[in-house]
Amino acid sequence: MDLYEHQARQMFEDHGVPVVPGKVATSATQAERAARTIGGPVVIKAQVKTGGRGKAGGVRMARDAGEAAQIADEILGLKIKGFTVRRVMVARAVNIAEEYYFSILLDRTKRRYLAMLSREGGVEIETLAVEKPEALVRRNFSPLDGFTDTLAREMAEEAGFDEADTAKLVPVLKQLYSVYDEEDATLVEVNPLVKTASGEIIALDGKITLDDNADFRHPEHAQLADHGSMDPLEAKATNMGLNYVKLDGSVGVIGNGAGLVMSTLDVVADAGADLASKPTPANFLDIGGGANADVMANGLEVILEDLQVRSIFVNVFGGITACDEVAKGIVQAYRILKSEGIEPKPLVVRLDGNNAEEGKAILNQAQLPLGQVDTMDAAARKAAELADANGGL
Ligand code: GDP
Ligand code: MN
Repeated sequence: MDLYEHQARQMFEDHGVPVVPGKVATSATQAERAARTIGGPVVIKAQVKTGGRGKAGGVRMARDAGEAAQIADEILGLKIKGFTVRRVMVARAVNIAEEYYFSILLDRTKRRYLAMLSREGGVEIETLAVEKPEALVRRNFSPLDGFTDTLAREMAEEAGFDEADTAKLVPVLKQLYSVYDEEDATLVEVNPLVKTASGEIIALDGKITLDDNADFRHPEHAQLADHGSMDPLEAKATNMGLNYVKLDGSVGVIGNGAGLVMSTLDVVADAGADLASKPTPANFLDIGGGANADVMANGLEVILEDLQVRSIFVNVFGGITACDEVAKGIVQAYRILKSEGIEPKPLVVRLDGNNAEEGKAILNQAQLPLGQVDTMDAAARKAAELADANGGL
């Protein structure tokens, strides 16, 4: 889960990372009040889960509370990289002397953590890494060792900080590592980490990604989830315990196993490329190993609710879950949906692997309005054609 900047700011504060006073506002009036409480010039910052807000006009300075209200009014409702701004953070303005970059993240390929530090912050890290890689100090370290004083010091020196700045920086970097470590994050990024005109080090922006697999250790993280901005179908699927991601196309996809579903998405996109409406997958949905009738019915229900869906492709490779079980699941799913008054859409099923023949026989016998195709490529083509014929997009 990615956090909003204001949530990251709070987490930083809880771990002793120096931040400026900041308050969340959802209206101009609230922003005005927040600015008055904070006092002096403030910065109004769009709260959207994407970078580059500054360039998009989502980070602006206000001299006083009146101007804060006016600017908040302009930023609220703005669209930044597809995200509508519903909240702003009003933060005390800082007199910046220098902008740095610091991040810690999980480096999966190296099976290590990776810390990155640069004296040239404020610009996008991707740009810096390409245009001035020598200005970015990168160090992998083991989770068992943690981010030590020695490592922090070495990185600061290598990045070109003098002794005085290094001495101020090291404790802040270590506090940021404590956020990463204690909150079970996979990313903590501060861009910019600034030195103020009076010489303080402050985290002026913050990005945190929490490791959802560690949620069981952090019941307090549940309140950070932002159901409001979640796609309603994704929210419904999540509540049903389904592994579902909404996509843009017209072919609903259900499969067992994340790998199979991923390749199904590719095959569907390929199969539809030369058709008039160029059908592409409408979703990712992995019903996992023990796909019983309820799971299948829930999956179909979510997909059928997606108004963009024109056809559905159920792609199952029977392994531990035998195809006859899956077939029974599909039959019962149709029954459940019928009893709920949910209209099916053109459906293509491909069953292969363990007990495929038994599975196909069960579907044939049930005489459902669905087509069976034996190979993945041909089935994907069929589903794409049905979507195209059924109105495309
Ligand atoms: P981002 O564009 O989404 O990364 O948003 P940031 O929070 O990083 O803000 C973008 C830029 O705005 C920063 O790099 C700073 O240069 C500037 N900025 C943000 N807050 C302040 C502030 O309090 N004072 C000054 N002078 N500049 C600020
Ligand atoms: Mn930033």
